[in-house]
Amino acid sequence: MSSLSSKIQDVFNEPGCGKNQGKSEKERKKGCTKQLQPGGAAGGCAFDGAKIALQPITDVAHLVHGPIACEGNSWDNRGSKSSGSNLWRTGFTTDINETDVVFGGEKRLYKSIKEIVEKYDPPAVFVYQTCVPAMIGDDIEAVCKAASKKFGKPVIPVNSPGFVGPKNLGNKLAGEAILDHVIGTEEPSYTTPYDINIIGEYNLSGELWQVKPLLDELGIRILCCISGDAKYRDVACSHRARAAMMVCSKSMINIARKMEERYGIPFFEGSFYGIGDTSDALREIARLLIERGAPAELMERTEALIAREEARAWAAIEPYKKRLTGKKVLLITGGVKSWSVVAALQESGMEVVGTSVKKSTKEDKERIKEIMGEDAHMIDDMTPREMYKMLKEAKADIMLSGGRSQFVALKAKMPWLDINQERHHAYMGYVGMVELVKEIDKALFNPVWEQVRKRAPWEETTWEERADAALAAEAAALAADPELARAQRRAARICKCKAVDRGAIEDAILAYGLESVEAVTERTHAGSGCTGCTGTIAGILDGIEDWRPAPSAEPAKRAA
Ligand code: SF4
Repeated sequence: MSSLSSKIQDVFNEPGCGKNQGKSEKERKKGCTKQLQPGGAAGGCAFDGAKIALQPITDVAHLVHGPIACEGNSWDNRGSKSSGSNLWRTGFTTDINETDVVFGGEKRLYKSIKEIVEKYDPPAVFVYQTCVPAMIGDDIEAVCKAASKKFGKPVIPVNSPGFVGPKNLGNKLAGEAILDHVIGTEEPSYTTPYDINIIGEYNLSGELWQVKPLLDELGIRILCCISGDAKYRDVACSHRARAAMMVCSKSMINIARKMEERYGIPFFEGSFYGIGDTSDALREIARLLIERGAPAELMERTEALIAREEARAWAAIEPYKKRLTGKKVLLITGGVKSWSVVAALQESGMEVVGTSVKKSTKEDKERIKEIMGEDAHMIDDMTPREMYKMLKEAKADIMLSGGRSQFVALKAKMPWLDINQERHHAYMGYVGMVELVKEIDKALFNPVWEQVRKRAPWEETTWEERADAALAAEAAALAADPELARAQRRAARICKCKAVDRGAIEDAILAYGLESVEAVTERTHAGSGCTGCTGTIAGILDGIEDWRPAPSAEPAKRAA
């Protein structure tokens, strides 16, 4: 087995991963390794994920070995900020061409590393593998080793070509690269009992700097943030931290777990979004540090700081609370933000009418239930049409999402706020929460909405009225004809990877008495591709009483 294949298998079988923990002993042995499906890299390839995870290390040169488009796709695609060097924002690529495809691109890669070292003299060069050189067999590990020896500088191979899987896998492979080649290779000039690592935080819009002053005040030193605003040396020395906080569970759990295993650094998963969560995270950091030998008085100082900061934040939010209480929010994001932002919004009096869980782990979903109750409206996959309808029917007053869904809100002439990685405002910590509330208030009460909702003087009917009338006619037709409604429901494509419609799933459930998502997948193959539809399949199973045909119409049950 090639080293890349075994690395991927290792990453898939990560014991710290929520999905793996939820499996039986037997299933865990099988791991998560599965055949890759066409389209698996849609929404970001593994290379993109690796670059996103490591590019915020600010003083190193990030060299992309591949055609120029790979670097073009991934360059600066998140708004991370640096407090020092700007070298990380310079795009370096080997820009391989047809000749390299025929004769191999290793020489070109070596020359590129040489040129970077001579012109920029960075503390290290990170070399990212992409699809084309991986397919022609360029051995970046060997080139990096030779270059490192020749130039006396760390040259780190990040072996995560796009075709091996999605962005999330790339995040983890990037973690493996720094675990193998960077972490533990240097020693800090001094250590303190107050040294921590923050893992999975990328300093988007400078968010880390909203929390750092609080830690500074407590005397807690961020030995290394992986990877927001990090320097190469910080990462190399990070194995001397006393405790760690993991910010985004999905992206870098392997780093946190392996650092605990190798260097005995305990970690917890926390969030700095929302007042309550920020306080909890500070308490947990203090608790872990005390457990590892810091003086117990740290907790008293932490509690005093929390009390002061919470009071300040509430006082700043108070004037907005009156205007925002009762406002309904539709939250289309994922991962840790699907629950941490919920808590933050509820704190300011808003009601979250739905939160998307498409990219969330099992733990994320559990947290949502804890915060929003068992009846939490978790949206697995909402079509733009459904989003539009929800906003239009005023089931939500504002949508918070990433840039891609903004046009749905704008079409519905409803306020929208960007809370994903491309956002321009920082929402972390106590001040970040106040900032989020201010931005929501600005978006909700912007007079532009009233203006754009007015009919133009020359229009008899607006396009929305025509669209609403068409939707109403369609709904009336379905209500009048249950057979048509049934046919439309059954025709919905549930698993796009395996082209399985809802009707086939319903038939299999009834015919074979299937009761779990795994059983449906085994029988119909639905959910065996990107697994994005498994939540929808679970919903079909849960709602069986709503769609089960009358007994006479039900197909005879066969032996499973
Ligand atoms: S690494 Fe592969 S999938 Fe990713 S951008 Fe480059 S060519 Fe496309």
